[in-house]
Amino acid sequence: MTLRDGERVHLIDHKGRVYALNLRAGKTYQHSGQTIPHDRIIGAEDGSNVVLSGGAKFVVLRPTLAEYIMKMPRGAQVIYPKDLATILLWADIYPGATVVEAGIGSGALTMTLLRAVGETGRVVSYEIRDDFAERALENIAMYLGKVGNHVLHRQDIALGIEEQQVDRLVLDLPEPWRVVPEAVRALRTGGIFLSYLPTVPQVVKVVEVLQGSGAFGLIETFETLQRPWNIEGRSVRPALRMVAHTAFLTVARKLVTPVAVEPELDE
Ligand code: SAH
Repeated sequence: MTLRDGERVHLIDHKGRVYALNLRAGKTYQHSGQTIPHDRIIGAEDGSNVVLSGGAKFVVLRPTLAEYIMKMPRGAQVIYPKDLATILLWADIYPGATVVEAGIGSGALTMTLLRAVGETGRVVSYEIRDDFAERALENIAMYLGKVGNHVLHRQDIALGIEEQQVDRLVLDLPEPWRVVPEAVRALRTGGIFLSYLPTVPQVVKVVEVLQGSGAFGLIETFETLQRPWNIEGRSVRPALRMVAHTAFLTVARKLVTPVAVEPELDE
């Protein structure tokens, strides 16, 4: 499919550096004193080469969701693609699901969830900061266009989840334990609670509260590490640098029969 007026595209130079631009008929793109009319990119094949006025060559591509997320304007820190990918399977996001998330942040998780639930599912976001909410909605519209199955509530999710029989709840906020009572009420049985937390004390607290709620079982916590490799002639080795830490994922399942809480033994 050829690149269209109004689309966002990425230009990638020979060193792999990425520059984002929104295509607008009649406009000119400038880079290091060199230019190219947008009209020369509009109508080009996705993945073709373009040459700027001074001879600089770029590959032009419609960004994948992961590429778009890493380059889009950010308010809050986004969830990295390695974790977004993991969340999709460990929270078991499926077409048709009703998924509640908080907060919306920059919208990276929201877009990932929207693509996975498809047109028959829906995503409901809770967010306390208006500036982040606005930025996220712009980011989502820029990549997905008009979305009919996304709802945003501008409120603290711990104060109430309006939706009932929620299939999955994904929390990327600092105090997810405050949301556990609402999660117990709003999630359907068999539903999944997932929280994304950067530090160990936070993880300990959310797990204790999940265990103490008596409504959740199969509670597990893990992290994912993605180590990039350099494959270049005989230099076949891990890259020298990597993102060593993002956050821990804690997943829990809402059960019909409250799980027995270990009694404290008086000795
Ligand atoms: N998942 C997002 C990033 C979220 S950053 C992304 O991928 O882009 C955390 C967000 O949670 C911030 O926007 C913050 O304002 C919001 N937040 C924090 N506590 C909240 C609460 N109790 N209810 C709703 N939103 C909350």
